[in-house]
Amino acid sequence: MTSSDFADVIVVGDGLIGLACARATAARGLSTCLIGRRRPGLASAAAAGFLAPTIDPAKGSALSFMLEARARYRSFIEELRAVSGHDLPFALDGILRLPATEREARAMAASGDKMSRWLSPAEVAELEPALDAPFGARFHAEDGMVDNQRLLRLLDEAIALGHIPRIEGDVRRVETAGSLAAVELEDGGRLRCRHLVLAGGAWQPLLSGLPRPIPVLPLRGQMMSLTGTPVMRPVFGFGGYVIPRPADRQVIVGSTSEAVRYTLGTTDAALNGFREVAARMVPALARADEVRTWSGLRPMTYDGLPILGPDPSHPAILYACGHSRNGILLAPLTGDVIASLAAGDAPAHDISPFSISRFPASASVMA
Ligand SMILES: Cc1cc2nc3c(=O)[nH]c(=O)nc-3n(C[C@H](O)[C@H](O)[C@H](O)COP(=O)(O)OP(=O)(O)OC[C@H]3O[C@@H](n4cnc5c(N)ncnc54)[C@H](O)[C@@H]3O)c2cc1C
Repeated sequence: MTSSDFADVIVVGDGLIGLACARATAARGLSTCLIGRRRPGLASAAAAGFLAPTIDPAKGSALSFMLEARARYRSFIEELRAVSGHDLPFALDGILRLPATEREARAMAASGDKMSRWLSPAEVAELEPALDAPFGARFHAEDGMVDNQRLLRLLDEAIALGHIPRIEGDVRRVETAGSLAAVELEDGGRLRCRHLVLAGGAWQPLLSGLPRPIPVLPLRGQMMSLTGTPVMRPVFGFGGYVIPRPADRQVIVGSTSEAVRYTLGTTDAALNGFREVAARMVPALARADEVRTWSGLRPMTYDGLPILGPDPSHPAILYACGHSRNGILLAPLTGDVIASLAAGDAPAHDISPFSISRFPASASVMA
């Protein structure tokens, strides 16, 4: 910060999105202050780590942005490695999608989807011998995964190594005053800035003083980890997924999508379901031990796309929230976009599908 109570950029929210934004704005030479207090249910730590823009893909320029986000990951991981000296489990060598029945297999095999291809049972067995895929599978060859928990730790470290000022605490209220913005902290302190980046995840709508309601809702996802890494690639099937965490010799199994407001926790029904899904896809997992169970809150918008860009009436406010099911994928590119906007440059990508203007200004927030 140039003085103790003013910064070019203040970022509210310390998940992957906030961290990526703070790093990118500081890298542009903008004085940056990151403010956040991690809450239980933080999505960035709870997530599975799919980098999967071609699974349930968006359309048009939103899809192009998601594909760019996937492409940006390699250089992002390289940058973090250069700063910290640490490697991160990350791969873009494909995701498999298994049909549950022969009928579903026929439909999947006939799909005209150009971003994936159909594999025979023998081809699946060659790629992933531990999978039970009697009908074959759809292969999304360019998608992949990252260990989001390690990524979060690495970004924390990068923020510290970059000497980016960081306040661990709650922002109670935001204000807009002329062309500037300000935040009020829980201890009553007040900081002003040229650009205020809102990256508060599922808790973003709860912040008071916002120029308009933010149509983001928490959507709980339950998760479980099991011992062993019988598969090298993530696999979807039977209403769930398995994703390897090779560095921990574990797999993660998930997930649910539950509108239960801010309630965290797991249920026996969901965990038993995960066990069934895992064992049907990878029989060896039927005997695996449970390591941990947890849940997290996805910051969902109605259309599943993020809210990214300036507030139409208060351009000092930059939205970087509502990343829904793709916030891990989108974090690096979101940082780039926010840094361009805060520096006064046009973003290199079309962000019009992500404008907050796509929602009615009076959209009620049911959180
Ligand atoms: C179970 C599950 C699985 C997922 N799987 C994937 C996946 O495979 N791939 C993928 O791309 N995405 C996935 N997601 C989605 C992804 O995790 C989120 O989109 C992304 O992490 C959102 O990041 P965020 O930084 O916006 O929010 P969060 O990580 O939730 O961070 C927000 C932070 O801001 C803080 N904060 C909020 N308000 C304030 C305030 N007023 N003052 C101070 N601090 C504040 C919060 O405490 C929190 O620490 C998954 C999510 C879940 C829950």
